[in-house]
Amino acid sequence: MAWDFSTEPEFQAQLDWMRDFVRAEVWPIETVFEELGQDGFLRAIEPLQEQVRERGLWAAHLPPELGGQGFGQVKLGLMHEILGSSPFAPVVFGNQAPDSGNSEVLALAGTDDQKEQWLHPLLAGDLRSAFSMTEPDTAGSDPTLLQTRAVEDGDGWVINGHKWFSTNASVADFLIVMAVTDPEAHRYQRASMFIVPVDTPGVRIVRDVPTMEHPYERFGAYGGHAEIVYEDVRVPKDALLGARGAGFLIAQQRLGPGRIHHCMRWLGVSRRAFDMLCERALSRFSHGSLLADKQTVQNWIADSAAQMHAARLMTLHAAWKMDAEGASAARQEIALIKFYGAQVLHDVVDRALQAHGSLGYSTDLPLEQMYRFARAARLYDGPDEVHRQSVARQILRGYEAPEGGVPSEHVPTRREAARARFADLLEAVTSND
Ligand SMILES: Cc1cc2nc3c(=O)[nH]c(=O)nc-3n(C[C@H](O)[C@H](O)[C@H](O)COP(=O)(O)OP(=O)(O)OC[C@H]3O[C@@H](n4cnc5c(N)ncnc54)[C@H](O)[C@@H]3O)c2cc1C
Repeated sequence: MAWDFSTEPEFQAQLDWMRDFVRAEVWPIETVFEELGQDGFLRAIEPLQEQVRERGLWAAHLPPELGGQGFGQVKLGLMHEILGSSPFAPVVFGNQAPDSGNSEVLALAGTDDQKEQWLHPLLAGDLRSAFSMTEPDTAGSDPTLLQTRAVEDGDGWVINGHKWFSTNASVADFLIVMAVTDPEAHRYQRASMFIVPVDTPGVRIVRDVPTMEHPYERFGAYGGHAEIVYEDVRVPKDALLGARGAGFLIAQQRLGPGRIHHCMRWLGVSRRAFDMLCERALSRFSHGSLLADKQTVQNWIADSAAQMHAARLMTLHAAWKMDAEGASAARQEIALIKFYGAQVLHDVVDRALQAHGSLGYSTDLPLEQMYRFARAARLYDGPDEVHRQSVARQILRGYEAPEGGVPSEHVPTRREAARARFADLLEAVTSND
């Protein structure tokens, strides 16, 4: 099947509009975000969200019957590449993480009542959500180790556990919580998902964990990563999201599209940093020439262009495969781009920062913020090492150990076989001597 990442002229016109709109209307908000505060920010983006709705670009990740646009992953990829250029553009377009992934979970596994109560208001932008899986005391890269428990009790469930890095939980209306319901089951069938409103008694949001991204204590801000204690949290039976024991399966289905959307957004961040690198190269003069004339800087530009091009094609190819054959068929492609894309993002931002010297390190430019953002990309939705491991395992399934441990390309062994095969010819050549 031919690969096809092209898009029709009508959608290209939409992409052109998005590029101008994000640059003219969203980028300026970045510089006053802290001054605006949470309420001011929401007021500033409201008219922008309206324009996005009018253009038919709202919540593009979901199918039309769920209020989305049903674009498919290739179009989404081209769109996210533009939205990724600003941390605030996805929220203006109604497809920001973690709400976008959570809406996919609700769409996938929710009952009609759950969709009515949680999905539709989430899509309308009236509610906010968080995904609460990672725990401080167990390895998040191996969710079969989860300790948070949900126990059936009378007409409901009682949840106890300790989570952290639940992004946006301190500003969320509800949490999707992963908890072990069947500790004796197969290790991938032990956990289930629950919808837990944040104001349920026993839900204690301890803090937003200070991080490289926000290295100071603050609480209740968009983009925070909350630590949460669940203490005898009682929820009704119908809080169970999807089948009992299907938590991992649903998480896998959520993380596939979610991962590739991150990779698409990273292309936008890389491009913005790359433009800054090139601009700087043409304006900074040192040791007798512009930076643009120095081979090291030329190498940075050429290497960045090559890596970005590779990451873009790999991302679009994974997106195309998801559209053509479904998310699970594209698992290897998604894992490849998850760790490769994170590396490209890091490298391009790092070079742009270096080219700007102390200005690049300062908050007078967005590069230091991009650098911190890039570092986290190697961890969330699975650390690089786990994706590399999964790719390597899948690839190795297509190979077998050579017979007797001798490499199949071993030249003396092949020569011996070739000599036997061409014995007549070799005999004739030798007797001619
Ligand atoms: C910005 C950000 C946002 C996040 N948002 C959310 C969220 O909304 N909800 C949520 O539930 N979680 C979230 N997380 C948590 C994230 O998913 C976990 O950090 C991640 O899964 C890794 O788990 P861990 O931190 O416990 O690290 P560990 O599992 O303890 O791993 C630590 C390190 O061990 C190494 N390692 C692990 N396994 C292997 C292996 N198989 N081979 C080789 N090396 C290995 C890797 O170097 C890895 O980085 C977020 C994290 C960040 C940084």
